[in-house]
Parts: sequence; structure tokens; C-alpha cells
Amino acid sequence: MRIDLHTHSSLSDGTDSPAELLATARAAGLDVVALTDHDTTAGWAAAEAARPAGLTVVPGMELSCRWFPPDAPPISVHLLGYLFDPLHPAFAAERARLRDERLARAERIVEALAADGYPVVWAELVAHADGGVVGRPHVAGALVRAGVVDSVDAAFGTLLHHRSPYYVAKADTDVREGIALVRAAGGVPVFAHGLATSRGRIVGDDAIAAMAAAGLLGLEVDHPDHTEEARVHLRGLAADLDLLVTGSSDYHGSNKRTPIGTCTTDPAQFERLLAAGTGTAPLRD
Ligand code: AMP
Ligand code: FE
Ligand code: FE
Ligand code: ZN
Repeated sequence: MRIDLHTHSSLSDGTDSPAELLATARAAGLDVVALTDHDTTAGWAAAEAARPAGLTVVPGMELSCRWFPPDAPPISVHLLGYLFDPLHPAFAAERARLRDERLARAERIVEALAADGYPVVWAELVAHADGGVVGRPHVAGALVRAGVVDSVDAAFGTLLHHRSPYYVAKADTDVREGIALVRAAGGVPVFAHGLATSRGRIVGDDAIAAMAAAGLLGLEVDHPDHTEEARVHLRGLAADLDLLVTGSSDYHGSNKRTPIGTCTTDPAQFERLLAAGTGTAPLRD
């Protein structure tokens, strides 16, 4: 059994449509794939319609959150949620708020770039996003199309990284509130790429313990952005806190170079996740 529990389609900042993503998953030999677009469930219906026989699809999403340390600025954290009820009103409203927040923030980034002479145009970016939830990869795409940089990676490396003068933070959900919403909707909250230092400041063990106390059920341990040391540390925390352990590629199509299935989840851990999720059923034969 090969299980990849974290992927993005063109409904957020990946480049494959849900149907293309599932075909890619099948061709890569996966048995289970979760669709976890940022702050949206908009791809679930297309995934259900296009699911190839024999492939299990886990409906999910990745919620944009923040941890508030007692004595330091907030830290961006990503929360994966699986098998929740997409119609749970408070959770659906919070996802909608985050999508609005993303649009306003991306527009501010584009305006700041344009004010400094970079030839990026907000309407062009929006048209190109084609209804997908907008993120920095869309700004990166606009910079590539404008000829400013020659790749999405180069755009992040020069103009869009979290220390850039063009970086704008978003008003993300307090992660404890995010965990509570996923649980209230019958879902399984898993802390995504928790020790990925390339993405900015990371939280301490105290935060992970507090998240567990708030109802977190799992840690994403095997992730392309985690060092071996980070994986060992997270595996130990998961054992101490009785959290399930996942592994995933965080596939984004051609917006990142990581192939689907790069990291995978142990079948016994996947069974724990299935047992905990009651808000919606996995899609399978
Ligand atoms: P945002 O959610 O708008 O802050 O954008 C973050 C997204 O950009 C995440 O999905 C990351 O996976 C992606 N990302 C971050 N760094 C890079 C990079 N160097 N190359 C491509 N994508 C990246
Ligand atoms: Fe992304
Ligand atoms: Fe993420
Ligand atoms: Zn992701």
C-alpha cells in the first residue's frame, strides 16, 4: 500500500486539475491519495467524479493557521484536516474568510511589486488563477510570465520568500481554533510540515503539546522539507503525545519539483486516521 496524504490541485496553488492529479497518483503507483488544497474543498466533487478505479481518495484540505507564542510574533503553521463535513457552518465560514484574506494579501504583494516597476498586473493574475485559491505561487507565476524570473523557485528565492520586503502576512486562523473547527466537523487534524525551517520560524515542543491538548490527532513527519533530525524529533513527540504519524509529498504539480508519492504514510497509521474521521467518507471502490 502506497499512501500520500498531502497534495494540491489547481483549485489552490497546484498546477494539475483534480482529475489530472488523480491520474498522476495512479500512474505513480499510489493506492491512496488525499486532496488537501489550501483553505478550500472546491476540488472534492471533481475528484469524486474523476476517481480511477482502485484508487482511494481522502477528502481533505490544508488550513492556514498561526501559533501565538507568549513573547514573540505569531508563527505561520499549516493544519491538514481530513474527512470532515464540508458543510459544517462555522468551519465553512472560516475557510471563506481565509480565501478573502488571501486575495486581499496577494493583491497587496502585486501592488507593491508593480509600484517598484515589476510588470505584474493583478487582473492578469486573477484571470490565470482561474478560480483557484490564490497564494504566493500565483504571484510567482505572474512574475515568470512577465519575464522577471525564469521559474517559480527563482521567484520565491528572490522576491517572494518570507524575509522579502514584498512579503505580506495573512490574518490566519489561531491554530487551536482551527483544530477545534476540524474536530467539530468530524475531521482529523494533522500538523503539516511542523519543523520545516525553510518556510520561516518554527514552533517549539510546547506549541505542539498545546496543539495536542487542543485536540490535534497527528503529525506529518515524513515531508520533503524535513531533515532527518526533524523527522526523528517529531516521531518521538508523536509517541509521547499519542499522535498518529503521516508522510506525504506536498505535491504542487509543476509549481514545485517534488514528485507525487515522494514521502508516504504507513498503512497502520492510515487506519488510525480512517477510524478517527467521521465527517465524510473516503472515496473508494
Ligand atoms: P502562501 O500560502 O500564499 O503564503 O504561499 C505558500 C505556498 O508557496 C506554499 O504552498 C508553499 O508550498 C509554496 N512555496 C513556498 N516556497 C516555495 C518555493 N521555493 N518554490 C515553490 N513553492 C513554494
Ligand atoms: Fe501551497
Ligand atoms: Fe503547507
Ligand atoms: Zn501543502
